[in-house]
Amino acid sequence: MTIPFLNLKSPYIELKEELDAAYQRVMESGWYILGNEVEAFESEFAAYCEAKHCVGVGNGLEALHLIVRAYEIGPGDEVIVPANTYIATWLAVTHAGATPVPVEPDERTFNIDPVRIEQAITPRTKAIMVVHLYGQTADMDPINALAWKHGLKVIEDCAQAHGARYKFRRAGSLGDAAGFSFYPGKNLGAVGDGGAVTTNDPDLAERIRVLRNYGSQMKYHNKVVGYNSRLDELQAALLRVKLTRLDEWNGRRRTNASVYLDSLQGIQDLILPVIPEWAEPVWHLFVVRYHLRDDLQKHLTSAEVGSLIHYPIPPHLSKAYMNDGFNNLKFPITEHLAHTVLSLPMGPHMENGQVDQVSSVLTSFMSAE
Ligand SMILES: *Cc1c(COP(=O)(O)O)cnc(C)c1O
Repeated sequence: MTIPFLNLKSPYIELKEELDAAYQRVMESGWYILGNEVEAFESEFAAYCEAKHCVGVGNGLEALHLIVRAYEIGPGDEVIVPANTYIATWLAVTHAGATPVPVEPDERTFNIDPVRIEQAITPRTKAIMVVHLYGQTADMDPINALAWKHGLKVIEDCAQAHGARYKFRRAGSLGDAAGFSFYPGKNLGAVGDGGAVTTNDPDLAERIRVLRNYGSQMKYHNKVVGYNSRLDELQAALLRVKLTRLDEWNGRRRTNASVYLDSLQGIQDLILPVIPEWAEPVWHLFVVRYHLRDDLQKHLTSAEVGSLIHYPIPPHLSKAYMNDGFNNLKFPITEHLAHTVLSLPMGPHMENGQVDQVSSVLTSFMSAE
């Protein structure tokens, strides 16, 4: 590919000296699990997210799962989730033994439609898990109001939204608790798996700390049936370096997005991302919609431009959820999005002119159609 979808080596090239120094610091410390680096990262990331507490965990799925467990949501309980999301959101609920209850998105923003949430609430509903898909937050005020009215927890899936803002407030502090992923391709990415929970609730933070470490606060004194899900020292040290660049890198994503938006506007039938006035997205992905999506993708591939589909199979149609009867449910908006979305190259390390190049490949396809 002349223009790859994403280049994961570029962050290392840009920050080589600092990352190498962090690596050496950890190697020479002789301390690799739950130490100073994780503690420092937790307080730095909490501050960044404008949240009181942060707990580092093994990955994004575990972050969400441990939140559900910590709220003692389990068998017989329901959690409202977006129908249109990556399957990890649902898995976090399923792993806790609770039932995901999918709600359709607002087609323009891809995110859960607050207007449709209330009719999905039952006496068994315990929480609403929102996803800030592609880096733009869900519409949180009406969602928090509904949760308050019905006594529900609000859990944010922030795996794609490090640094995003809703009405000037950061993702990770917009609900009761939030789960982050530091999978390498995310806006803040490790060189392996990693995740974190942020919250303003000190009791919840403490319960997550216990759950991530075998259910023990004091070694060999196990209070609950816990897990082994810890962010390790090396990943934390590397993430601390990258966190200092997150705003700058998100800024470069924003610049790329506005170049795309300028050069692609007005192309017939090509639907561009919509940004509500209260949103400050961080453009984890730049997703367009087109009715002949597969043809468009083939054209990009033949022009050596990388692109991906997020996501081709919605969770309710995946084999994993076949036995629960989800396959028979109909979520027409979600299914329509799965057939029409296409993610264009996006990231803080795209070279000068690459966004323009992608745009002109797209424009040439459209005028040939
Ligand atoms: C990446 C992602 C996750 C899971 O994160 P992992 O660290 O890979 O477990 C959860 N939800 C969404 C929306 C994601 O994009």
